[in-house]
Amino acid sequence: MRTIVELRELTKDFGAVRAVDRVDLDVREGEVLALLGPSGCGKTTTLRLVAGFERPDAGRIVLDGEEVAGSDRFVAPERRRVGVVFQDYALFPHLTVGHNVGYGVRDRNARDARVAEMLDLVGLTGEAARLPHELSGGQQQRVAIARALAPEPALILLDEPFSNLDAALRVRVRGEVRAILCDAAATAVFVTHDQEEALSLADRIAVMRAGRVLQVDEPGTLYAHPTDRFVATFVGDADLLPGRADGDAVTTAVGRLPTTNGDLSGDVAVALRPERVSLRLDGAGQGVVRGITYFGHDQLVEVGLEDGARVRSRMGPVRAFEPGDRVSVAVTGEVIAFRVSGTLNELTPDLASE
Ligand code: ATP
Repeated sequence: MRTIVELRELTKDFGAVRAVDRVDLDVREGEVLALLGPSGCGKTTTLRLVAGFERPDAGRIVLDGEEVAGSDRFVAPERRRVGVVFQDYALFPHLTVGHNVGYGVRDRNARDARVAEMLDLVGLTGEAARLPHELSGGQQQRVAIARALAPEPALILLDEPFSNLDAALRVRVRGEVRAILCDAAATAVFVTHDQEEALSLADRIAVMRAGRVLQVDEPGTLYAHPTDRFVATFVGDADLLPGRADGDAVTTAVGRLPTTNGDLSGDVAVALRPERVSLRLDGAGQGVVRGITYFGHDQLVEVGLEDGARVRSRMGPVRAFEPGDRVSVAVTGEVIAFRVSGTLNELTPDLASE
């Protein structure tokens, strides 16, 4: 498959802050790639470097076979064949929907047909004469996507595309945007700090932290086989428990757990997904229920273990436990172990800071 974007050793500093740190990343033709990470990890700066709104301090960017940023080369944003959907959509308020969408289409003769085609694509057929303020947030976003796609860019970039929408609308619009990008066979990169958004929308996810890309994989692989303990806890819920690995099992406070990485020995941390953890009322159990977070369709029950560690269990909505209950903890399936040199006390601040 063709590569549309190649980032090599891409680096950007703002004064003493290294916002993007030697990032290597490929985006393949027709895929939707999410840049996922906590606030300040460099996602937006990476996007802005690709768009040409920032100049890298080192490294290079190749876009659709052409070097657009490198040691002695910098192609201006308007010459990059990149469409951008900004967080606030940035529609021209005084222009109609049709004029907004047609804005970047150079060929005057083709413009009207292209606008009509794009409005069809985003489900706004017949809305060309309206003004942006007459549209809902979700509709404005679709206009912004239509405007970005209209000039047939090689790549479309979306910066936190759903952050302006309320929670109920966000899930629906997410599905619509996914369908629009698929129908347009667009290659897209979007930035988000929301793991659910990345997991449900992207073909592949690049997880960033402190300017670096830690892992790039399909959502299922990222969730099931995180290669880094930060990825394990940032993508999906997970609790880290200290343990000692020997061969294909790890001894922990909740028993001996089989692990997928049989080559580890010594001190490790294992990542436990709450959906793999089950609890049973047991006067001689290893833990005590500390709290329950109820979500309607399910609940998370938090259990404190004797050594101070925490595990959570995700279960159906029926209330089966109360804070203070003593419970035994069982884990199904294999767990992933990460090599650590520290103790749990050194593990937890790491999580709390994200
Ligand atoms: P968020 O999700 O909060 O938008 P992000 O992952 O997109 O975060 P960036 O906006 O790329 O992160 O910022 C990365 C780092 O670079 C941060 O420490 C930020 O403060 C810094 N930074 C970004 N833009 C600038 C700028 N124009 N001037 C100075 N520092 C900047």
